[in-house]
Amino acid sequence: MLGNTAPMAVSVGVFGAAGRMGATVCGAVIDDPDLELVAAVDPGAAGEKLRVVSRVASDLEVAAKAEHLESLPAVMIDFTHLDAARHNLAWCAEQGVHAVVGTTGFGDDDLERFRATFTRSNCLIAPNFAIGAILMMRFAEMAAPWFETAEIIELHHDNKVDSPSGTAMRTAERMAAASPEWAADPTTTHTVDGARGGAGPAGIRMHAVRMRGMVAHQEVLLGTTGQTLSIRHDSYDRSSFMPGVVLGAKRIGDHPGVTVGLDSFLDG
Ligand code: NAD
Repeated sequence: MLGNTAPMAVSVGVFGAAGRMGATVCGAVIDDPDLELVAAVDPGAAGEKLRVVSRVASDLEVAAKAEHLESLPAVMIDFTHLDAARHNLAWCAEQGVHAVVGTTGFGDDDLERFRATFTRSNCLIAPNFAIGAILMMRFAEMAAPWFETAEIIELHHDNKVDSPSGTAMRTAERMAAASPEWAADPTTTHTVDGARGGAGPAGIRMHAVRMRGMVAHQEVLLGTTGQTLSIRHDSYDRSSFMPGVVLGAKRIGDHPGVTVGLDSFLDG
């Protein structure tokens, strides 16, 4: 008999389930009615019961590696470390499991390999899952042709060792691609080295602040005659990334091949 049956929840597993991001992701998946957490993988907590903060308790046991899973989830989410993620993604591609990846640091060689291997399932690699940050980049790109001067200030916690952030670089690349018309830097005298920040794509100045108490923040300042525009995004804690991760897990099946960045997922 045909009836109004609810659509099946997407089955999801998490690599790095005992890590800071992974445990938060497990909670977000459990709390979403359209997703079902069926696997948790983390060698750091192998054999232990999954520990997450969620509305519904979980009795999943953490597996040491994907090879130990008894059944295949439709989607695996990876928040681990670079080498671990390379191994996990090779496994996903081989098994035909979709991958949603937050682990950062992949190079062009990695992306090339993933494009060659993800033939039976899809892969999303998003260096920033905060939807507000994705929109900030999009708005900055839209604004770029209307302004001749722009500077990007990114502000992060004091454990971040690289600068500028990947999000700041990506923002500048998109603004530079959207407009070639940027005014030259007028500064001729530098009393303090680096006071004008670094010159990024198209000469857009980039400034990195590292400060205790902060998480991940960015402000894009644009100026033209008689007006300025400030576009600011603030991530206050890991929960800011969860709507993007959940969206990625729900939509990955509709995005063939390898997608870098969450941007195209926002439109369906
Ligand atoms: P973490 O060290 O707290 O957690 C990583 C976990 O991965 C650990 O529990 C570890 O035991 C586990 N692990 C190691 N090898 C594994 C393997 N082979 N299989 C499964 N699990 C394995 O790190 P974190 O703070 O949660 O960050 C994880 C990653 O997420 C980093 O690369 C970080 O840069 C990235 N990150 C991305 C975003 C984003 O929006 N894309 C946001 C925050 C953090």
